Amino acid sequence: MRPKLDDVLDAVQQARFNEKKWVWIEHKQHGYVRAHIVQESDGIIEAEMDNGLVTSNQIYPMNPPKFDMVEDMAELTYLNEPSVIHNLTVRYKADHVYTYSGLFLVAVNPYRKLPIYSDESIQSYRGRRRGEMPPHIYTVADQAYHDMLQDKENQSILITGESGAGKTENTKIVIQYLTSVANTKKDNKLEQQILQANPILEAFGNAQTIRNHNSSRFGKFIRIEFNMQAQISGANIEWYLLEKSRVHQQSSKERNYHIFYQLLNADESIKEELLLGGGRPSDYGYTKDSNLVIEGTDDAEEFKTLMKSLDIMGLEHKEKLDLFRIIAAILHLGNLTVTPDYRGDRADIRDFAAVERVCHLLGIPAQDFKNGLLSPRIKAGRDWVHQSKSPSQVKASLEALAKTLYERNFASLVEQVNYAIDGKKSSDNLGFIGVLDIAGFEIFEVNSFEQLCINYTNEKLQQFFNHNMFVLEQEEYQREKINWDYIDFGLDLQPTIDLIEKTNPIGILSCLEEECVAPRGNDDRFLEKLSKIWDKDEGDSKFKTTRFKDGFVVKHYAGNVEYSTTGWIDKNKDPLNEDITRLLAQSTQRHVAGLFEDYLGDGMAEYKDSKQQQRGLSSTSSVPPPASSSSLTLFKLRKGGGSFRTVGQRHKQQLLSLMNTLYMTHPHFVRCIIPNNRKHSGEIQTKLVLDQLRCNGVLEGIRICRKGFPNRLSFADFRKRYEILCPTILKPNQFIDGRTACQQLLDQMELGPEKYRIGTTKIFFKATVLAELEEVRDRR
Ligand code: ATP
Ligand code: MG
Repeated sequence: MRPKLDDVLDAVQQARFNEKKWVWIEHKQHGYVRAHIVQESDGIIEAEMDNGLVTSNQIYPMNPPKFDMVEDMAELTYLNEPSVIHNLTVRYKADHVYTYSGLFLVAVNPYRKLPIYSDESIQSYRGRRRGEMPPHIYTVADQAYHDMLQDKENQSILITGESGAGKTENTKIVIQYLTSVANTKKDNKLEQQILQANPILEAFGNAQTIRNHNSSRFGKFIRIEFNMQAQISGANIEWYLLEKSRVHQQSSKERNYHIFYQLLNADESIKEELLLGGGRPSDYGYTKDSNLVIEGTDDAEEFKTLMKSLDIMGLEHKEKLDLFRIIAAILHLGNLTVTPDYRGDRADIRDFAAVERVCHLLGIPAQDFKNGLLSPRIKAGRDWVHQSKSPSQVKASLEALAKTLYERNFASLVEQVNYAIDGKKSSDNLGFIGVLDIAGFEIFEVNSFEQLCINYTNEKLQQFFNHNMFVLEQEEYQREKINWDYIDFGLDLQPTIDLIEKTNPIGILSCLEEECVAPRGNDDRFLEKLSKIWDKDEGDSKFKTTRFKDGFVVKHYAGNVEYSTTGWIDKNKDPLNEDITRLLAQSTQRHVAGLFEDYLGDGMAEYKDSKQQQRGLSSTSSVPPPASSSSLTLFKLRKGGGSFRTVGQRHKQQLLSLMNTLYMTHPHFVRCIIPNNRKHSGEIQTKLVLDQLRCNGVLEGIRICRKGFPNRLSFADFRKRYEILCPTILKPNQFIDGRTACQQLLDQMELGPEKYRIGTTKIFFKATVLAELEEVRDRR
């Protein structure tokens, strides 16, 4: 038989490779370059690159050419950084954007439409295992579906990565896959609704940023529920950490949330109903300084798509208009001009018609709104007195109101979507697959409270991964009774997590909370208190006060992050003017009143209290009873979450609940990678990618995976596959038990004892050992 051309070419390549000793050498500009060793003495190596000779004491061995484009990087003989990045690069250039790396699926953003997401492609991945088909996010989705059906166990798919890395796109692809394979009927309404949830969430939760034209400014966990017939029976979306500040400020190269521009490009009839007739983004304070258009995006078209999605979700015209009413009210709020009054220090809003427009949309009395804004009541001892505000204070309180309106409207939108996709609660529930789309570690020039929240989340998610990878792995070693010293990788991250979430000693979030409730709490006192407790001169301390004492450094899994604590008290408290929230709670617009009903509840309780007081104590209060005596916003989670006083506490609770859910699932991990900062397809910036692989645990995952025994085969499988290597050992018809047979095979192969462990039912191998055996087998 004639050898195949591919085999001949492979052999030629291998022969060329064998002629020299090839290595990778670090390079300032390119990260790593290939070279071959010319001379080696006393640890100093002289090597030749394409463009000349270098000397170095740091070289990395190169894998033979047959490992180019391996689908699972755990198989690489040499698992050094340059080999990993080389493999990802050659794969990426050949449009293979998905690559396995042990427990991870690594997904590099292609930045162009690849022909790998067609219906035929979905069909070809159905029921196929990893290894049978090229790596794909479909394999992960299919594996989750398969495991859920087979093990009757809930599944989760955790997708993380930097902004622009492709998390949301991959999330959509997973959901598309699941709705496609788990659907038996054509045109199933529920599946359509689940698919339409995304464009709706994106209109209100995404914005154009420098990094990503369609950046999600919130995290989400989408649960798809299945029934015993393996069909989708419902879904639910949980959201986290919406970036509220974007509503009133954006950099000039970025935009506000898509919905603002979409609404301003809607039909005039809708705009007129919302007092936006003829208005354009350049006419409103909260949009006019932003980037106005996204290249290639037609906001008018997007609005039509949004309306269709809302229709499919079953929203009526009035309900849609209510959602937009809030957006319009925010636009008008941004146009209120606050000026000093005739005395010069107090705030005034001269254009009363502008106030009336806002109040018309919100269904509240304009004069009360103006009064509440300019001189709200505060408690002075037992009395309630009006306190005039300065222009900057009023401006801040308008911004706080815009943010809260936006967030509560978003919450209400998600609630409405959830209502539509909830499906019927049936008794034959099988389980769910949850997909988490949440930002990875953020390490910027300046890091604030928002970064702390997201990095805290990632610390917990990384710990969850470690727990799975190492703890569960080692549990299997124990079950199989192999000789192994337990290593505790999972708990490595606990000290950092403790520093953030512990209550005793008091950690960052609780300390911030305390300062928020304290009468004269402020950012400086918070930092001082924190430093006293945590800034210890111990080698493994996870906390350090910064040199200029305006913040602190936390040692995170992804690296040291310096946080500036300016404004944390306000960010965490999210203070609202309660005269205004009380008005909103009593709005004539049901949607608006609904958004603030928690204030009505508190207000009424307070009102009753104060009535009783008035009767018994003849109160000295000079103004009507207050909405609430607390200076804090009580943000009530409607769905049984209880009430959380601050942003940090609310996030902590939500995160704990998410983690509880995740720990009850079988997880699958996807790491998205942004290839370059230019949104170009086909281009890999080595340093950028390496940084991400370090932060997201892929490199460490590989390293640690090699400490253990990542590959395993049952006795029977091993014997069947490798018997051919020692044909003489097993006589026909002679009985020999699996374990003994395998031991004899291994002895014959002269495999060093450090390369494998024999368990009670399986043999475990160090990384690359099986690949070597395969090679020997192939040569036979
Ligand atoms: P953020 O954290 O900002 O939300 P993200 O990780 O969710 O970022 P995506 O919005 O999913 O990033 O992707 C950014 C852009 O990259 C997409 O709008 C799309 O243009 C492109 N992209 C990502 N993944 C793919 C893919 N699989 N195929 C084609 N294009 C993609
Ligand atoms: Mg996203």
